[in-house]
Amino acid sequence: MDPLATRPDDENSRLLHRLRTRRRVPDPQTVAFLEQAQESAGGRRTTREMPDAGTVRAMYPNRTEAEIAEMSRYFAELDSAIRPPTRYEGRHHRQVQVYAAQLDEAVARHGRWPAADNPPLFATTESGHGTAAAIRVPHTGDHLVLVDSELLQFLFLFSKAVALAVPAGTPTPDGILRFATEPEEIRANLRRDPQILFRFHDVVLSYAMTGSASRAEAYRVPPATERLYGIVMQSAQTFVLAHEYAHVLEGHLDDGDPGGEHLAPPQWPLPLEGVADRFGFELTLEVMKKAGYDLYFTYWGIELFLSANEILLKAISLLRTGDEHGLRHDERHRQAGFDARRRSLETMLRTDLERASGKATVEAEWDRIGSGLHVVRDIVHILWGETEPLLRKAHADGSRPAVWWDSGG
Ligand SMILES: [Zn+2]
Repeated sequence: MDPLATRPDDENSRLLHRLRTRRRVPDPQTVAFLEQAQESAGGRRTTREMPDAGTVRAMYPNRTEAEIAEMSRYFAELDSAIRPPTRYEGRHHRQVQVYAAQLDEAVARHGRWPAADNPPLFATTESGHGTAAAIRVPHTGDHLVLVDSELLQFLFLFSKAVALAVPAGTPTPDGILRFATEPEEIRANLRRDPQILFRFHDVVLSYAMTGSASRAEAYRVPPATERLYGIVMQSAQTFVLAHEYAHVLEGHLDDGDPGGEHLAPPQWPLPLEGVADRFGFELTLEVMKKAGYDLYFTYWGIELFLSANEILLKAISLLRTGDEHGLRHDERHRQAGFDARRRSLETMLRTDLERASGKATVEAEWDRIGSGLHVVRDIVHILWGETEPLLRKAHADGSRPAVWWDSGG
């Protein structure tokens, strides 16, 4: 599902309006800094064409001709509303601008709009390192939120494989989709359809071995799966950007060193990560609610992002040495960070719920709430359990991680 394609008209026009207000001309020094950063991260000058009807039809094989026509018209309108910040924008850059506009709205609704005429400039890089970072530009003091397009691609394909593992139930008469998410149902589904594990394995292995998630094979999924992964992916990708936006809004970049001169993500201390996660979570929840999705879907996407990163590091470790102890110090540190963030998000949410409904109520209900929240984490756990032996075998057969995972850090 494309989150854009199901918005009612007035929502669409509000979003287009937000996108246009984002089209302010950025400071030339900021643009020069950004272009240099993108170029040194391996970006190439590109002109990216908007998809024509044929491409849209191939992307959304389940849509009717009328829907395809409507989507093509909307894409064209979107294109006229978006100005790429530079000529080096990579894959997914339009989607990033859409997320930025949605986050602006959420920030405004939170009353946290510090400089309405100068929100952070969102841009993509093609470093392939799968990171996102907030940066303060030297001299101009503008803020950038840079996201690697491979990270978005990885989250897209990872969401798709996870959604494929979930058997779809029969929709209710009013069209609400139901999914079977019990571990036993997931396992039975994996036994029934070997394609699921293959897809999961393919995206993890492609990214770990080539440094490019885009190398994984493209494939089509049934409509219910398309809808589920669209929701989870939207939450995951929105959270990546919302977290960085939160670093900016919380003033984490404002002290001391006037901002990174290079693209490596700053290693924030965990307490600051916690602050950015908390605010990032609230912004993501706001965006998702507006699109019609509840807390659970939002949480699924955030856990998907954190789990996907942990899985990637585990895969690199297994390919490098054949066991889980193959990570460098900085990689181990990152992995522990993702794990800690996952745990503290749960604690945060539980504390919030206790404050709202009382400790005893939450205590009594926690098993049910907890298993609902952790659906995606638990599916990823099952998928990883089946994938791990394959990676050990791949190592034994001579497969290794992409060279540049070894040179990074
Ligand atoms: Zn952070």
